[in-house]
Amino acid sequence: MALQAIVLGSAAGGGFPQWNCGCPNCERARRGDLPSRTQDSLAISANGSGWFLLNASPDLARQIQQQAALWPRAARHSPIRGVVLTNGDLDHVLGLLLLRENQPLTVYATREVRAGLEQNAMLKTLQRFEGQLVWHALEYGREQELLGPGGEASGIFVRAFAAPGKPPVHLMRGALPSAGDNCGVSVRATGSARLVYASATSAIEPIAGELDGAAALLLDGTFWSETELPSAGLGRANARDMAHLPMSGSGGSLALCRELRIGQRWYTHINNSNPVLDPLSAEHARLQADGWQLAEDGLRLSI
Ligand SMILES: [Zn+2]
Repeated sequence: MALQAIVLGSAAGGGFPQWNCGCPNCERARRGDLPSRTQDSLAISANGSGWFLLNASPDLARQIQQQAALWPRAARHSPIRGVVLTNGDLDHVLGLLLLRENQPLTVYATREVRAGLEQNAMLKTLQRFEGQLVWHALEYGREQELLGPGGEASGIFVRAFAAPGKPPVHLMRGALPSAGDNCGVSVRATGSARLVYASATSAIEPIAGELDGAAALLLDGTFWSETELPSAGLGRANARDMAHLPMSGSGGSLALCRELRIGQRWYTHINNSNPVLDPLSAEHARLQADGWQLAEDGLRLSI
């Protein structure tokens, strides 16, 4: 059985273009010179009828509208069985609230990510009746089959692994950093090869063993360089301050993944400031020379 994956969104938080950004990239996307991108999320299925989301982006309603595979098959129905959350960042969890309207769902998350969400009273809109939201703990290093809200098997097997990260910005005050803040997942269907999704990581070494041998990798492509935001006057934080390893440089993800055995190499979660968004840029050429491509919204993979 093959694992099917659809890239629902390929932009970092804020999307592309970002509503309050007039940088050259965002202006080009607004004019239609560069393809716009919604915020990072993936849909996966082993049978084409039941789907799980890897993260739920604030753009989820638009993403569902763009993908017939996610449309209802009957009155008051959804093929979306549940959501796997890889961290508590708003660009990965706000879409959960869009999945209200009395639809039972399972949510897989670490203890830390769940606790962060449950601090917010709005989550109760997904807990209007017993069994509307069925929580499962994402346990690192253990493969678990994703289950629908009624306990039904999906044929999708997920192994989560800690990826160096941080708590979400809105919880940074008071929350001590923990390995449960951020993870990647290795996903397969029965008998299929592995797809690895790690859309946020500040280092490669600790997760290299998980990336090695992947048939397809969707990796954190937020920034090209460490000082991308301050250099462009778009912010004060460096890439690693935001727990994103940049692509370039001797310690960047291009260099650190070079020796790993990886089939398809895709960057996703691409920030609107990243020069690789211009397909004619020197940075984009360097990425391609290393065998990488940029994921785009709507990209379909069969593993
Ligand atoms: Zn911008």
